[in-house]
Amino acid sequence: MHTVTTIDGLRTARAGLAEPVGLVPTMGYLHEGHLALVRAAQERCESVVVSIFVNPAQFGPNEDLAKYPRDIPRDLALLEEAGVDLVWLPTSEVMYPEGFQTWVDVSEVSQPLEGGMRPGHFRGVATVVAKLFNATEAHFAFFGQKDAQQVAVIKRMARDLNFPLGVVVVPTQREADGLARSSRNVFLSAEERGQAPALYRALIAAKDAYEAGERNAEKIRRVMLGTLAGASLAQVQYVSCAHPETLAELDTVSADGALLSMAVYFGKTRLIDNLVLEGQ
Ligand code: AMP
Repeated sequence: MHTVTTIDGLRTARAGLAEPVGLVPTMGYLHEGHLALVRAAQERCESVVVSIFVNPAQFGPNEDLAKYPRDIPRDLALLEEAGVDLVWLPTSEVMYPEGFQTWVDVSEVSQPLEGGMRPGHFRGVATVVAKLFNATEAHFAFFGQKDAQQVAVIKRMARDLNFPLGVVVVPTQREADGLARSSRNVFLSAEERGQAPALYRALIAAKDAYEAGERNAEKIRRVMLGTLAGASLAQVQYVSCAHPETLAELDTVSADGALLSMAVYFGKTRLIDNLVLEGQ
C-alpha cells in the first residue's frame, strides 16, 4: 500500500495503478461503514484509492473541526489489512494553498435539511470532492447512503460538471442495535449510546406506518417524533419526509416515494440517519 500526501506524489502513484480506479473519500477515524465502501470499490474496480482529509471547508465556525476524532496510524493499519492500493493524506495546505478562491456551489439540492442547519457545509463538500475527483482521476467514487443529501449533491455536481466518473452508493452500515456507524459515535456517553438507536427505531416506525398505508407526510413525521420522544436525552433538530430527489418537504408521499431523515443531538453529539421509502 502506497501512502502519499502531495498532489505530485498522488499523480505519480496514480499513474501506476491498474484501471478502473475506485475512490473512497473519507475524513478518517475509520469504521465498518468506511470499510464497506472499500469492499464495494474492490468489487467494482482493479485499484482502490482512499483519501483521508478532515476538510475544514465543510465545518461551520461553531462545529467540531478541532475535536473531530483522528487516528491516522490505526486508519492506515485498517486500510493495509483491507488491501487498499493507495492512501492519499493531503494537508490543508495541499488542498487550500494560499490564494485559493474557487468554490463549487450546487445551488438547490444543498439548501434544505443538512444544508439548512449547516450553512456552507455542502459548498465545502462539493468543492473538496471535485478536487478529489480531479486529482485522482478515478473512474468510480463510493459514498455512503448514511449521508443521503451528500449523495444527492455529489450526483448533481458530477452530472452538471461532466465528471467522467460513476457515483456508487453503498447502504448504511449499522451496529447490531440499529445505530448507524459514525466516527462521532465515540463521543456518546454510555447512557447516550444506550438511547441512540432511537433514530433507527423512529425511521422503522415511520416505514411501518407507510407500509400500512399512511401517505400523509406530517403524520409520518409525527410517528418519527413520537418514537424519538421516548429517548429522554434526545434533542431533535429536525425530522423530514422529503421528495427523494429534490429533497423538498412533502405534504403527501406520492409514487416517487420519500427520503425520511433526521438530525438529533445527544448532548453535544449530533447524529443523523435516514431511510428511503420506495415508491409504490
Ligand atoms: P466520513 O468519513 O464521515 O466523511 O464518511 C466517509 C464516507 O463514508 C461517506 O461517503 C459516508 O457516507 C460513508 N459512511 C460513513 N458512515 C457510514 C455508514 N455507517 N455506512 C455507510 N457509509 C458510511
